[in-house]
Amino acid sequence: MIVLKSDEEIRLMREAGRITARVLQAIRDAARPGVSTAELNFLAEKILEQYGAQPVFKGYSFGNGMPPFPATITACLNEELVHGIPGSRFLRDGDLLTIDCGSRYEGYIGDAAISIGVGDAGDEVQQILQVTEKALHVGIAQARAGNRVGDISAAIQAFVEGEGYNVVRGYGGHGVGRTMHEDPHVPNYGPAHRGAKLRPGMTFAIEPMVLQGKKDVITLPDHWTVVAKDGKLTAHCEHTVAVTENGPEILTLL
Ligand code: MG
Ligand code: MG
Repeated sequence: MIVLKSDEEIRLMREAGRITARVLQAIRDAARPGVSTAELNFLAEKILEQYGAQPVFKGYSFGNGMPPFPATITACLNEELVHGIPGSRFLRDGDLLTIDCGSRYEGYIGDAAISIGVGDAGDEVQQILQVTEKALHVGIAQARAGNRVGDISAAIQAFVEGEGYNVVRGYGGHGVGRTMHEDPHVPNYGPAHRGAKLRPGMTFAIEPMVLQGKKDVITLPDHWTVVAKDGKLTAHCEHTVAVTENGPEILTLL
C-alpha cells in the first residue's frame, strides 16, 4: 500500500532530507586520502546529533537472523556497491567512495547517497560518477503525476545501458516516509508504463546503482557489503523525491 503524504508531512521530510544532505556535504568535504570510513561515520553521527535527528540505518535489520547494521552511514569503496560497513579502512587517492545516509527528524526520513572520487580520481572513476549522477536525474525527471513507477525504472535503465554500463537487479529505490522502506519498490530496470501510477503526495527514494562490468553482485561474509562479482567499479546516487502537482521535488537538498 502506498502512503500519500500531506503537505505538512512533506515539509517534515524536507527537513529530514536537508539534514541528510548536510551529512553528505560534510563527508564530501572530509573525504581525503588517509581518512578512515569510521571517521566519516563519526562525522555523520555528530551532525545528526547537532540537528536533533536520529540515524535510520543503525540497528536496521532485514530480519532472517542476520546481524543489524552497526553504523550511521554505509561506506563503499570501488567494487563495493551498497551496504558497506564503515571501519578502519583508509581512503586512498583515486578511490571511488559511496556514502549512503538515512536521517529521521520529527518522525520522518530523508534517504540519500553520493558517489565521489577521492583525491585525484582517474577517467574511469569520473566517467561512472557522471553516468550515475545523470541517471539519477533522468529518473527523477520521470517522477511526475500520471506517469508510472516503470517510467522511472525504464528511463534509468535505458540511459545507463546506453552509456555502456549496467544496473543492478536485486536492489533499488523504495517508498520513504515514517519508515525507510515503504511501497512502492522503484527498480532501476524494467518496462515503461508499468507499475503503480504516480500521484501527488507520493514520496520515494530513486537510487540508480551502476556497474562498470557485469550486473552480478555478491554479499560479503560480513552479511552486509554487496560487491560487484567481477570486481569492477560501481557507483550509487540517491535522492528522496516527492511527486507534487508541479512535478518532482527533491527533498534531500541543502
Ligand atoms: Mg539510501
Ligand atoms: Mg534508499
